[in-house]
Amino acid sequence: MLIQLSRILSQDGKREQFEIPVEMECFSCRLGEFPVVQKSPIQLTVINTGRRVLKISGDAKLVISIPCARCLEPVDTEFDLSFEREIDMKLSEEERREELDECSYISGTELDAEQLLCNELLINWPIRVLCREDCKGICSRCGANLNIQDCGCDTTELDPRMAAIRDIFSEFNKK
Ligand SMILES: [Zn+2]
Ligand SMILES: [Zn+2]
Repeated sequence: MLIQLSRILSQDGKREQFEIPVEMECFSCRLGEFPVVQKSPIQLTVINTGRRVLKISGDAKLVISIPCARCLEPVDTEFDLSFEREIDMKLSEEERREELDECSYISGTELDAEQLLCNELLINWPIRVLCREDCKGICSRCGANLNIQDCGCDTTELDPRMAAIRDIFSEFNKK
């Protein structure tokens, strides 16, 4: 959803509050596609602090389904986001992008709340999601989920330390 900022920009000290419903059903990013299981509206406050500088603060709560790093079972992962930004509207879009090092969520005098949310999700994305601390992962031979069944493959593969080592490798390969 796009928020028009021109009215706020027209007057120093002006402050507006927004409650913005989250549209996305699925969060797509360079890491993949993740279903949004639960969402509540984004609460956003925009303040014109003067000299065309805006202070944007807000919070949002979402639950996103992320596969376990070991067994790939979906794990409901809670995001309790809280953010605060200062945007200098005197800068060009290009300059802002360089400064913030993220996708631009302001175009002209419009703020794209959904894009802002996506940026925040990426910043807060967990390094690794596990369905449980001692998840046994999947059997590297037959692909069985070892939390559910003992597939009976060669037991040297079932050493829980191996799961940890596999994690390190799969993390390593992502880079
Ligand atoms: Zn797992
Ligand atoms: Zn197996």
